[in-house]
Amino acid sequence: MSDLVDIARMIRLYLKYLVDEPDLARWDQQIGDLVRAAHAGEDVDGRLRAVFARDPEVQAWVADTLSHPDLLPRDIADQLTTRSESPDGDRLGARLQIYTCPVSQCVKWPRLYPSEVVPRCPDHHEVLVEVFPR
Ligand SMILES: [Zn+2]
Repeated sequence: MSDLVDIARMIRLYLKYLVDEPDLARWDQQIGDLVRAAHAGEDVDGRLRAVFARDPEVQAWVADTLSHPDLLPRDIADQLTTRSESPDGDRLGARLQIYTCPVSQCVKWPRLYPSEVVPRCPDHHEVLVEVFPR
């Protein structure tokens, strides 16, 4: 799986923070379709780049995430950094967990805090399952 496809799997659950409501469903559907095509073996990087380029906020989010060595969104990466620099790092109980859809890995969702409610896959409506760490 290419880095861009990995990011496409992740951005679906962040779109609500990045694009406005009237366009949200269309964005989610287009990105979801491209992820499915990638899983079927197509090279979709060029098409994903074209979709991401339509919105400056989305494009910036993708660029930030691509630049992280573990492909983590900046908000997650920043919180992990803050935690590891804190002498009492485990105070907040933060621990990186990665979740995905149990049906076909349509989405990828990083979770830092046990208090965060695990979302459902937008396609299959199943609660995501933990894949990392295990
Ligand atoms: Zn799914």
